[in-house]
Amino acid sequence: MPPPQLPPPISRHVAVIGAGAAGLVCARELRREGHDVVVFERDNQVGGTWVYNPRVEPDPLSLDPNRRIIHSSLYSSLRTNLPREVMGFKDYPFIAKNDKKRDQRRFPGHREVLLYLQDFASEFGIEEMVRFDTEVVHVGPVEDNIGKWIVRSKRKISDDDREVSFGFDVDEEIYDAVVICNGHYTEPRIAQIPGISSWPGKQMHSHNYRTPEGFQDQVAILIGSSASSDDISREIAGVAKEVHVTSRSVVDETYQEQPGYDNMWLHSMIESVHGDGSVVFRNGRVVVADIILHCTGYKYHFPFLDTNGIVTVDENRVAPLYKHVFPPVLAPWLSFVGLPWKVVPFPLVELQTKWIAGVLSGHIALPSPEEMMEDVKAFYETLEASNKPKHYTHNLGGCQFEYDNWLASQCGCPEIEEWRRQMYDAASKSRRLRPEIYRDEWDDDDLVLEAYGDFTKYT
Ligand code: FAD
Repeated sequence: MPPPQLPPPISRHVAVIGAGAAGLVCARELRREGHDVVVFERDNQVGGTWVYNPRVEPDPLSLDPNRRIIHSSLYSSLRTNLPREVMGFKDYPFIAKNDKKRDQRRFPGHREVLLYLQDFASEFGIEEMVRFDTEVVHVGPVEDNIGKWIVRSKRKISDDDREVSFGFDVDEEIYDAVVICNGHYTEPRIAQIPGISSWPGKQMHSHNYRTPEGFQDQVAILIGSSASSDDISREIAGVAKEVHVTSRSVVDETYQEQPGYDNMWLHSMIESVHGDGSVVFRNGRVVVADIILHCTGYKYHFPFLDTNGIVTVDENRVAPLYKHVFPPVLAPWLSFVGLPWKVVPFPLVELQTKWIAGVLSGHIALPSPEEMMEDVKAFYETLEASNKPKHYTHNLGGCQFEYDNWLASQCGCPEIEEWRRQMYDAASKSRRLRPEIYRDEWDDDDLVLEAYGDFTKYT
């Protein structure tokens, strides 16, 4: 029997918003599948989050909706929190280059990740698809033409040598499909603190943290116990008088001096703050502090998107989305890439975009809108039944690799490698147990060997 013939792929005119890791791999997958692709990028280079910017926003809490946005939240000293073997795209491994100018560490600094993404863009000729300095300001369905989208964008007109902006060219075009890859670590979420309006100290969000100098001899409170808070608290403790980290995931009595430090403590949540500068914790301790640093995460934000209320962001749930990607009634003409968190982002977005590209060309079938909506409802009911708050909707924590493998099965490509799963688990455990040294000492060399063996398929 001859193999069944696939129908010829249908080529679509597709707009991709953003040229970070997600937008780059999305452009590659769409083009591989025969689509005609335009990537809009408001910065003047590829890389998104990994383009470190020493400048910060004028408003340290980033509350002013009209502020000049700085996209990246990277701090100067940042090294990856995943080993490079785990972190890279599946078919374009993030291997250490035999080049003295490159960072060859397993957990490299942020510049090495940017160079890797630049290598990726040049290897696959992505830049020719990107319109730089071009911000998408509106995406909405074309009236009376279901499945078509208006994309309005404004392009900076500037003198490159002098970096002077002369204004904007505004453009309006029609696309068959729009893929949103705009990142979700730019719009800060701020903790609500009773009494904060009368507290006289300084506040900022980690989005606007670059280096510890401003914390010299200060008494600092850090809210949150995420990866950023872990790194930043240690860095600040080197210069500050005292550092108090408060976490909502510890019991109310918690008060612990942090191992290896005589000026850093872990507390339970803040109960209130007061006009005399004091900060009262649920454990009963009172500290007079100079500065509160919110390491409290970010909000999904799509200021350009108008779906007539079909897609909403409520308590940080982007809904309704089938498998975190397609709004059922707008599928496949609108899709979101990279929303899941507590994941390994690069291979995940690689698989999501393969799926989107295949669905758009007709190679991969989606269930009907009604069936997708049923699936979404059932998913939300499962979250509710297990008391997961809405803002955990896109947290794939324990099931990210099952999700990846489901996507792989849709695309007919191999599952996530066993070594990658095991290495991810080993790195997570080591980060928890040995936060100071996990980036420089490890005991999974056998897995590293296995990974590099696997990489020979692609290098
Ligand atoms: P981004 O990289 O944010 O790219 C989005 C792009 O969209 C940007 O270039 C932006 O300019 C553009 N854009 C946005 N809006 C518009 C618009 N309206 N018009 C045109 N362009 C627009 N991941 C790891 O794998 N390992 C790590 O160690 C790691 N550490 C991290 C540390 C920090 C502090 C942060 C914030 C994130 C970290 N991440 C890490 C996660 C990181 O976000 C992902 O690795 C990845 O960079 C996300 O890529 P993205 O393309 O989805 O988004």
